[in-house]
Amino acid sequence: MSGETVLTLNAGSSSIKFSVYSAAEEPRLEARGQVENLGPAARLRLRRQGAAPEFREIGAADHTVALQAILSRTQDLVDGPEVAGVGHRIAHGGVDFVAPQVLDTETLAKLRALAPLAPLHQPHNLAAVAAAQAAFPEALQIGCFDTAFHRGHPWVNDTFALPRRYYDEGVRRYGFHGLSYHFVIGELARCAPEVAAGRVVVAHLGNGASMCAIRNGRSVASTMGFSALDGLPMGTRCGQLDPGVILYLMEREGMTAPQIADLLYRESGLRGLSGLSHDMRTLEASDSPEAAQAIDYFVFRIRRELGAMAAVLGGIDALVFCGGIGENSAALRARVCAEMAWLGIEIDEARNAGNERDIGTGKVRVMIIPTDEERVIARAVTAALSAR
Ligand code: ADP
Repeated sequence: MSGETVLTLNAGSSSIKFSVYSAAEEPRLEARGQVENLGPAARLRLRRQGAAPEFREIGAADHTVALQAILSRTQDLVDGPEVAGVGHRIAHGGVDFVAPQVLDTETLAKLRALAPLAPLHQPHNLAAVAAAQAAFPEALQIGCFDTAFHRGHPWVNDTFALPRRYYDEGVRRYGFHGLSYHFVIGELARCAPEVAAGRVVVAHLGNGASMCAIRNGRSVASTMGFSALDGLPMGTRCGQLDPGVILYLMEREGMTAPQIADLLYRESGLRGLSGLSHDMRTLEASDSPEAAQAIDYFVFRIRRELGAMAAVLGGIDALVFCGGIGENSAALRARVCAEMAWLGIEIDEARNAGNERDIGTGKVRVMIIPTDEERVIARAVTAALSAR
């Protein structure tokens, strides 16, 4: 590899993903990978462009060990000093960060102060920054925020009906998956500019799942709020929950905050409902009634939010699916779109089954746009490198 290299790091709560790009106005992907199965038997998966995936067992690995494995693998790949920029996916940018930022000492202090707002993500994100700074001390470190895309959304979608002081101290509906929405709306603007300028609902359906209502390229409502728990049910997260349930768990079951966090983040959602798996492929392949019910609930909540977003936008011009489930599960998409003709949503069975880009036949454009959060980060780093 020659020329300047950009590394992107996406340190989630249970996996760390990374990508290596050659810096260019449109960054060129060279390799991407992740550490899978963080825990006693982790392994690093790496796929160079045009090559078969390579695996390396790294044994017992927490986040620190996994990051070291990724950084040293990147050093092998690109010859250390040539890494000119490292882009980080950062869960929370609070109310202030509306665009990518150079991660200098002052910015990092502000981001550390936001950790209580995203306790399962922010500390891992910031640990990745520290590790990357140590491995590539000359590189520009850039933070890209999942909340940034939503910062301009209207106040009614930003607030909870709590006493004002909570809003003032930061208890707000921030919204997440912003890098994904940013990418998707950019693709839409390229391939269908008239639609991108209109009223769009994007359904990001992966292990994490949320939906966003977008008008003229700007977020106006999203299903995730204060934390990445709200809205749609997810692989292991509960989605929308009456806060009375939490009071019940505390008062009747004597559960502590960490126990409740574990329940809501790791034991709920598709896994909790099915008692089988968090993984949609496993549920779709199963004949257990509980697996079927878990999918029923997922579909029901997506359809409900779609109706709500159509009301917020005053109708919709496009519905876009993305994320592992949104991009690959024809059955799920068909169920979401069934009996939606009243809203102008109708799809072609064969095009849906083929995961084609345009699957709509009604007046609403229905599309599948594979998302690429890493590319959004790589572009931000490349832009910052050019501005040096
Ligand atoms: P993450 O949010 O961790 O990035 P992904 O976007 O990769 O997750 O989505 C993972 C989800 O996508 C899993 O539930 C997986 O089962 C589902 N998925 C991937 N491929 C398919 C497929 N062909 N059919 C149904 N679901 C799929």
